[in-house]
Amino acid sequence: MAMDFDMVVIGGGAAGLTAAGISASLGAKTAIIEESRLGGDCTWTGCVPSKALLKAAGIANTFRTAGRYGLKASEPQIDFSTVMDRVHEIQNAVYEDADAPPVYQKMGITVIEGKSQFISPRQVEVLGQGGGRRQLASRFFVIATGGRPVIPPVEGLSETPYLTSETIFTISKLPARMIVLGAGPIGIEMAQAFRRLGSEVVVLDAQDRILPRDDAELTSLLLERLAGEGIHFLLGSGVRRVDSAMGSIRVAYRAASSSSEATLEGDTLLVAAGRRPNLDGLGLEAGKPGRNRRGPPLPNLGGQHFCLRRCDGALPVYAHVGAHGQSGRHQRAAPRANENGHRQRSLVYFH
Ligand SMILES: Cc1cc2nc3c(=O)[nH]c(=O)nc-3n(C[C@H](O)[C@H](O)[C@H](O)COP(=O)(O)OP(=O)(O)OC[C@H]3O[C@@H](n4cnc5c(N)ncnc54)[C@H](O)[C@@H]3O)c2cc1C
Repeated sequence: MAMDFDMVVIGGGAAGLTAAGISASLGAKTAIIEESRLGGDCTWTGCVPSKALLKAAGIANTFRTAGRYGLKASEPQIDFSTVMDRVHEIQNAVYEDADAPPVYQKMGITVIEGKSQFISPRQVEVLGQGGGRRQLASRFFVIATGGRPVIPPVEGLSETPYLTSETIFTISKLPARMIVLGAGPIGIEMAQAFRRLGSEVVVLDAQDRILPRDDAELTSLLLERLAGEGIHFLLGSGVRRVDSAMGSIRVAYRAASSSSEATLEGDTLLVAAGRRPNLDGLGLEAGKPGRNRRGPPLPNLGGQHFCLRRCDGALPVYAHVGAHGQSGRHQRAAPRANENGHRQRSLVYFH
């Protein structure tokens, strides 16, 4: 079979863009296929908007706590839609600078827009947004299709308006009362950001601690600090039902320590209950299960395929784990072993 490329990368997020850049720099004829916009989670729904929002929230908190520095503390005037405009400006600047197709075309990479699916171990078919189809053959493939939020099977959730990390950065009105389902990295970061920007925030999680993958000693300090900022935590509390009426969202839950249900009300519900890999529709199901130590079985496509980061269901959650460590502005829980003897490989940002 004639090969169109040496390397085809499926998915143009942080992992795919990096893989394509390395491949091209080694002289391989490389293509990258992206079904949406290059940049993926990190630029559009993850690192960049969340850190831009946390920065604004941190500044708001500095106003309130300026007394610590001998300055007069004051309540900041927050125009949330202007804060979000800045978040979007930063996203667009990052995109233009590091993600946009011309950046990769200059490296000799062919950028193809569309959704791709394997039709044989060495071929993918790309379905373009206009409906056109194109087949490509390659010696190697990188599957870097990332992940998406898990929506837990809670009664009433599918009929209730809720946000996830994919939609929260599109809102322009500050929630008055936000309920966060999930005390993992995304739930905790967003809880702190919105609390500092002025929302009342309640975080609910079935587990009895926050950030269960991180060091318990550090996360209990963080819990104290976040509670001190006014975030209300309902840990060890399982959500039973969710519904909404007249702009109000109700969450019925039961604490492990209680035999009766209680109800919470808010105007915004953020579901941050974990992530799952994006493998559906890639045509992988046709193959035989191959080796994948941590995630779901992947098909054996003949050893010429590499699955990067999230798409194999593996930890860590964040792409920056290896890159950070010096800044005093975040907690780094790696690399010491936790109480179970496991090395921590995740990173959570807070101010
Ligand atoms: C709220 C939030 C905050 C975060 N903060 C941080 C942080 O501060 N630091 C950090 O390091 N990480 C952070 N992360 C995690 C980080 O965003 C991800 O680890 C990283 O973006 C994963 O990159 P990826 O390339 O594996 O996947 P993605 O960025 O998800 O890219 C996958 C791409 O594949 C495309 N795709 C999927 N299926 C197909 C298909 N069949 N054909 C073609 N294209 C396809 C998608 O459209 C997408 O663009 C955060 C995540 C979230 C949600």
